[in-house]
Amino acid sequence: MDSRTFRDAMGRFATGVTVVTTQVDDETHGMTANAFMSVSLDPKLVTISIDHSAKMYNQIKQSQQFAVSILSDEQMDVSMHFAGQKDNPAAVEFDFVSGIPVIRDALTAVVCNVIEFYEVGDHTLFIGEVLEIKLTDGNPLAFFGGKYGSYQLYKW
Ligand code: FAD
Repeated sequence: MDSRTFRDAMGRFATGVTVVTTQVDDETHGMTANAFMSVSLDPKLVTISIDHSAKMYNQIKQSQQFAVSILSDEQMDVSMHFAGQKDNPAAVEFDFVSGIPVIRDALTAVVCNVIEFYEVGDHTLFIGEVLEIKLTDGNPLAFFGGKYGSYQLYKW
């Protein structure tokens, strides 16, 4: 099986879109990510999967903290900026939760301390213990088959 087939297959799993942020020496770094999931309720744990070629990998290894901001359907430009797809610094505004930068107006911001990390293939899974959460109302940005979209609720 080639990598394209694997990517196409995984791309059929519809996800939300997040921006992972961290801070090293007072400098903020952000990166778009959809490999995010909730892991445990007690204790409250989440995980993100970061490519070893991403700058974010070394940033989180240094800071041992990260935040995950779940984007709304009005923040596609934010996702594209932090994925390096389309430069739009004007779309970037940070708030601070427990001293960690998060994306302003995101649906949810989850701030974590890294408690474990697992190098798996060409990515590392960082397990974060949740320190704080900020919630905002809105609708999610979706990602499916390599394209952005919006989520639609069925009425029944
Ligand atoms: P860079 O490529 O240097 O940074 C990314 C962009 O963010 C650059 O444009 C940079 O200018 C900007 N930026 C960073 N910090 C700031 C700041 N403080 N202020 C303003 N702009 C800033 N990769 C993964 O490893 N895991 C995933 O789960 C994952 N999911 C993805 C999901 C989607 C929908 C997409 C589109 C991409 C995903 N990627 C994922 C790929 C990842 O987003 C890109 O490879 C990204 O460019 C890697 O970022 P980097 O840390 O190497 O930093």
